[in-house]
Amino acid sequence: MMTTSNSDKSKLVPHQTLLYRRDVPLQGSFNVVVCGGGPAGIAGALAARREGLRVLLVEGQGQLGGVATSGLVAQWLGGRTDDTKTWVVGGIFRRLAQEAARAGCAIIPQTNHREVYQVHGWHKGQNEAGVVLDPFELAHFLDGQMAAAGVEILLHTQAVDVNLTGNHIKQVILFNKSGFFAVNVLAVIDATGDGDIAARSGCKMVKGRPSDGLMTPATLEFHVDNVDQDILSDYIHAHKTPRFQELVKKLRQGGDWPFDYEIFISVQLLEKGVMMINTSRLTGIDGTDGKSVTDGMIRGRSETQQLLEIMRRHFPGFAHARLKAVAPLLGVRETRRIVAEVMLTVDDLRGGKTFTDTIGYSAYGWDLPDPIKPSYQPMWETNAAPVHKVKKKQVTPIPYRIMVPQPIGNLICPGRAVSVERDALGPVRVMAPCMAMGEAAGEAAVQVVRRNIDFRDVDIPQLREQLRRHEAIVDWKDNDVI
Ligand SMILES: Cc1cc2nc3c(=O)[nH]c(=O)nc-3n(C[C@H](O)[C@H](O)[C@H](O)COP(=O)(O)OP(=O)(O)OC[C@H]3O[C@@H](n4cnc5c(N)ncnc54)[C@H](O)[C@@H]3O)c2cc1C
Repeated sequence: MMTTSNSDKSKLVPHQTLLYRRDVPLQGSFNVVVCGGGPAGIAGALAARREGLRVLLVEGQGQLGGVATSGLVAQWLGGRTDDTKTWVVGGIFRRLAQEAARAGCAIIPQTNHREVYQVHGWHKGQNEAGVVLDPFELAHFLDGQMAAAGVEILLHTQAVDVNLTGNHIKQVILFNKSGFFAVNVLAVIDATGDGDIAARSGCKMVKGRPSDGLMTPATLEFHVDNVDQDILSDYIHAHKTPRFQELVKKLRQGGDWPFDYEIFISVQLLEKGVMMINTSRLTGIDGTDGKSVTDGMIRGRSETQQLLEIMRRHFPGFAHARLKAVAPLLGVRETRRIVAEVMLTVDDLRGGKTFTDTIGYSAYGWDLPDPIKPSYQPMWETNAAPVHKVKKKQVTPIPYRIMVPQPIGNLICPGRAVSVERDALGPVRVMAPCMAMGEAAGEAAVQVVRRNIDFRDVDIPQLREQLRRHEAIVDWKDNDVI
């Protein structure tokens, strides 16, 4: 029995263990259970389902989309080259982007080469190559996609545990308002971003920076409207300072900038005057620790109010900005990563290594702020713009094997928790490549289910052919160095 003394009431630390046993209802059998409905999970579910498998998609929040919707990070990056001319991620990502744009819940911007300042991102380069989203409309759009495809979904449902026989998951244990229950499963896609299922299955995992386990800062994203973008644009053009470092420095000197980060990042969303503020950098957060996530939400909401006041007082164009929404989900950039047989390394990216099991690509660059100095990017020459200290090809290949955890045979882990050397996470963690990985995981699950094999034994040429058939991009030639 666990007891709590008065002195440690405020802490949630384990004192003892409690053996808690109960029967749970078995509620159905699925070919594939996808845990987590973010970019990797939605693509995984759609890919497995289009091949005729029975798929259950389980999402802890009340909507699909992950960080893009619940986290209010309303732009899918990494799917097109910086000049916006070429898709690097095809398949489900490109189809969803194009259909979402037709449905009015996304914009696929084209670079205006005459302008330095781009409304959908501050500077020429990575940001305007993204697909800009209305997160509220997108959630509804994704419901429609799942219904049309015949993916069964459970929202507000957590995947909490697994039941193993040897090295195979036989049931996933779920929890929602109905209580605990289990489903039978042949293949599991862990798209929780944190590798929750891999961790609970006993797979080899690492977390954070090798030297001290610290993780890159989290952000609680918020949106504002009523921004005068003409004033903002004039200021940025006049000062050539898309991330406002000089203004922030001045404010800090005058005692008006209390935060330990030194940038201000905002992106115009679908309408002029409506902007996403991706600025706060909450250090010391562990996204796999419930208490730490709670602290992050509370600190994040408090910083939102402080930052909003500062923006209104000091940032050109924001004088009358109104708070439109604060994310209900903390934006966590880094937690656990699986340790697969293959790990994508910085040297692989530096050397332009190619892989025979490439299942997709990313067009994104190094981006993993330092855990303690939140505006410092260890892989950049300078923090004013992404001038890379460590060169890599613009387009990063993603090998299949970095998604295959050890030792569980019927589990695959696409998305943010893949097996990469920590500094190599930046290019692959953004949402378009996560969808490429999810799509490949869903197609791989087809082989696992139909041929009764493990994910590590998937036939790679056949998988790449399956992906090509669905217009995923698995072959890339032109590869500029950045
Ligand atoms: C603040 C911030 C800004 C970013 N900016 C950008 C950007 O501008 N563009 C971009 O492309 N990328 C950006 N990224 C990176 C990107 O958003 C993530 O790396 C990406 O979303 C990871 O995709 P995923 O599918 O692996 O996980 P997620 O998007 O995190 O989705 C995981 C989903 O699983 C659910 N879940 C988690 N655990 C469980 C569980 N046990 N049971 C059930 N459900 C569960 C979560 O609720 C979530 O919906 C940003 C990330 C952050 C945090």
